[in-house]
Amino acid sequence: MRIGVIGAGAAGLTAAYRLTQSGHRVTVYEANPYVGGRTHSEHFGPGHHLDTGAGWLTSAYTSTLALFDELGERERLQPMRASAPAELLVEGKVYLGTGLPRTPAGEHIVPADERERLRNWLRWLEGYPPLGYRTFNDQENAEAHLAPVSPAATRYLFGPMFEGLFAPLSEQSAEFLRSWIAASRAQYFQVHEGMDAPWKRVASHLDVRLNARVEMIRQGGTRMEVVANSMGTEFDGIVAAVPPPAGNRFVTRAIEPRWVAQLDYEQIRYSGQCRLYLAMPGDAPARLHRRALPMGLIASVEWQSGGQGAWGKCPGGWQWALICGNQAYSTHLADLPDDEVAGHLWTEAAKLVPGLPPLKSWNVRHVVRWEQAVPTMAPGHFTRMAAYQRRPPLVFAGDWTHQACIEGAVRSGEAAAEAFGPG
Ligand SMILES: Cc1cc2nc3c(=O)[nH]c(=O)nc-3n(C[C@H](O)[C@H](O)[C@H](O)COP(=O)(O)OP(=O)(O)OC[C@H]3O[C@@H](n4cnc5c(N)ncnc54)[C@H](O)[C@@H]3O)c2cc1C
Repeated sequence: MRIGVIGAGAAGLTAAYRLTQSGHRVTVYEANPYVGGRTHSEHFGPGHHLDTGAGWLTSAYTSTLALFDELGERERLQPMRASAPAELLVEGKVYLGTGLPRTPAGEHIVPADERERLRNWLRWLEGYPPLGYRTFNDQENAEAHLAPVSPAATRYLFGPMFEGLFAPLSEQSAEFLRSWIAASRAQYFQVHEGMDAPWKRVASHLDVRLNARVEMIRQGGTRMEVVANSMGTEFDGIVAAVPPPAGNRFVTRAIEPRWVAQLDYEQIRYSGQCRLYLAMPGDAPARLHRRALPMGLIASVEWQSGGQGAWGKCPGGWQWALICGNQAYSTHLADLPDDEVAGHLWTEAAKLVPGLPPLKSWNVRHVVRWEQAVPTMAPGHFTRMAAYQRRPPLVFAGDWTHQACIEGAVRSGEAAAEAFGPG
């Protein structure tokens, strides 16, 4: 069969690669001038890059690791060094802890009478398989689920952690919280040359059209037509591997009446994310990882000396800082020019981290913006996804159909390819 794949992120590239292996003829359409989607890395010079989206993989990513093995990409992975101790700023007081919130250090913030319940819950989660499609308690929101466990942990640990990158706990499925925390017990890896390197390798085996934004898809009988850059091409099937807010432009109820309604496709939301990366020669006076709690405008500030950085790689003898706006502040900054975004993020970060060098003193100043950073797995989301049967000619893939991570995207791509059977 001839199959068009829309989106060259981890989901679309995995789908296209597996479809090609099954004997289909595949064309991938990608709106950007590069592949990788939210695994994109910015390269500033030799041995210096920033993973602008996903920064790590874990040993729980079995499908991703198997794919990298097949491609000979596994050797690019390097275990992530232990992160600097997190300094948590809670109502004016700084708490120090590594591996929050799973270790007793993280529990300093939790009053004694809540600690045992929190420990029991974390212990119970150790037996909880991550990254699946469980629907147990999926209708409940994460805040309600946590309330009997520990109000302080909800307010000071999980709330800010989830609100920073995702959405408030009250808008997230309890299942998402459990499965995310369960996944955090794995071994973490970075990709030596940048998170997008393996995806460039996958793409090198495929027919990928860059700068090809799909504007419309049309259905005529069993044939589908993809229109990109005003050119139409016919296919036997389509994999739509884009976040629904982008797909809403071309996946309509007329095209896919059943699943658009049942999956709540038009309502699926993604949080936004704005970050500022700074780097310059010199040693940082301290390794610092601060999270502003309870939630301020800034989700986290890291300021460290070079070497292997948390979100990529910075040369030895350099220092770097990464300032992440929380999702609400990121949305607020979204329409401003880069210079203004940098100014706002630096100003807020400097209030939390005294001594942060002035903005103009950094050699590298790079603003990262993600309009669609991570999907909101709202209550009921996993129940809807568990019901989804991928049926050609139009099949959805992407992190939103599985889990908000690379492994979720890869598994969704493999499931999409499987739905088409052998070519
Ligand atoms: C800041 C940040 C940090 C993250 N950290 C981690 C992490 O450490 N570990 C982890 O596992 N996950 C992390 N994630 C999540 C992970 O990056 C994503 O879940 C995963 O990469 C999603 O892959 P995808 O293929 O579903 O979507 P995407 O990567 O978004 O791919 C979709 C592609 O479709 C293209 N597209 C959109 N519209 C069109 C159109 N009309 N026509 C053609 N192409 C189109 C886009 O340009 C894009 O390339 C992070 C995400 C962000 C934003």
